[in-house]
Amino acid sequence: MKNSEIKTVYADNAATTAMSDVAIDAMTLYLKEVYGNPSSLHTAGQKAKEALDGFRARIAARLNADPAEIYFTSGGSEADNQAIRSAAYNGAKRGKKHIISTAFEHHAVLHTLKKLEREGFEVTYLDVHENGVIDAAQVGNAIRRDTALVTVMFANNEIGTLQPIAEIGALCRERKVTFHTDAVQAVGHVPVDVKAMDIDMLSLSAHKFHGAKGVGALYVRRGVPLASFIEGGAQEKGRRAGTENLAGIAAMAAALDDACDNMNANAEKERRLCDKIISGLSRIPHSKLNGDRNKRLPGIVNMCFEGIEGESLLLLLDDAGICASSGSACTSGSLDPSHVLLALGLPHEVAHGSLRISLSEYNSDADADAIVETVPKVVAYLRNISPVWEALENGEKPHLL
Ligand SMILES: *Cc1c(COP(=O)(O)O)cnc(C)c1O
Repeated sequence: MKNSEIKTVYADNAATTAMSDVAIDAMTLYLKEVYGNPSSLHTAGQKAKEALDGFRARIAARLNADPAEIYFTSGGSEADNQAIRSAAYNGAKRGKKHIISTAFEHHAVLHTLKKLEREGFEVTYLDVHENGVIDAAQVGNAIRRDTALVTVMFANNEIGTLQPIAEIGALCRERKVTFHTDAVQAVGHVPVDVKAMDIDMLSLSAHKFHGAKGVGALYVRRGVPLASFIEGGAQEKGRRAGTENLAGIAAMAAALDDACDNMNANAEKERRLCDKIISGLSRIPHSKLNGDRNKRLPGIVNMCFEGIEGESLLLLLDDAGICASSGSACTSGSLDPSHVLLALGLPHEVAHGSLRISLSEYNSDADADAIVETVPKVVAYLRNISPVWEALENGEKPHLL
């Protein structure tokens, strides 16, 4: 019943966002007119170089960083890989091969850590508790003499919980341990200040705040060494070879300025719409909101509904014109429940019935109303045909929610 008359409700902004007009306009100029290579010595190249310097300064300013501390990358995954591997290998040179992280990081972080474990590094994965928020004290207790790196995400991409980044940063600075944060979901959505928060390395990605896909940045505090993993030209001070994605970087600077200038209004709108969705969907019996009710991004709602499969829910919502997710885009297609929901301590059968709704300021009240109206109907339909639900209802199995 996929039907072109149904207006699509796009509620998967944690997977990616639509580009904003300001970002597209900024990008177009650098695709059509200022297309020189910033490394070329002629006028076209120097125009591009000047523009690149300007974008670097604008992006740095939004993080309270210096322009020389910003390295452009192909996105959040590359920034995470480079930061973590660099800090690990740098620590290993001084005999430090211990890393601290959490159990619910993005796979760009977790899979990099798994690889380092196979190379002989030891990783402590901190418990994220039932509410999906760690305490800075857990980090303090886990730091050892041989700890090379602490990497804790700023905001979780599946459940939206915010971590106490400034406290963790202060602790790491005091104990002289390098602190990296994957801030891909946070930048442009909540205030981020690398100096006030004592952050040594930070990853961001443009397509999570209405920029283009395939472009991001890594902030590295002056004095913190950064290794290069892509050899070639001398771009990015020799730390990341390859002709700069000038158009993508132009769009990223425009999108970030726009996001930061409108942060309060955007957050207020997203929070209002999400509150509506949370209160509407919480009326579904045997349901649960995942992650702390207050320490969260304004735009992400993640809920579990007992007795259903998240995948079936998504497909039926898609038929009804609602694009949502069961967790992260990266795990969809696999039958395993989300590692994030399992890290919160949810049983497998409950974690399977999850739904992530992630809004941006482009969503409307009508979108929230459509979600509140449609999800309960689809959940009821799926429960009606579910043998698991029947067993729960006639008492053969105990309800877990
Ligand atoms: C999207 C995302 C990434 C990956 O960023 P890409 O630019 O898509 O590589 C990393 N971490 C988090 C928390 C994300 O949400």
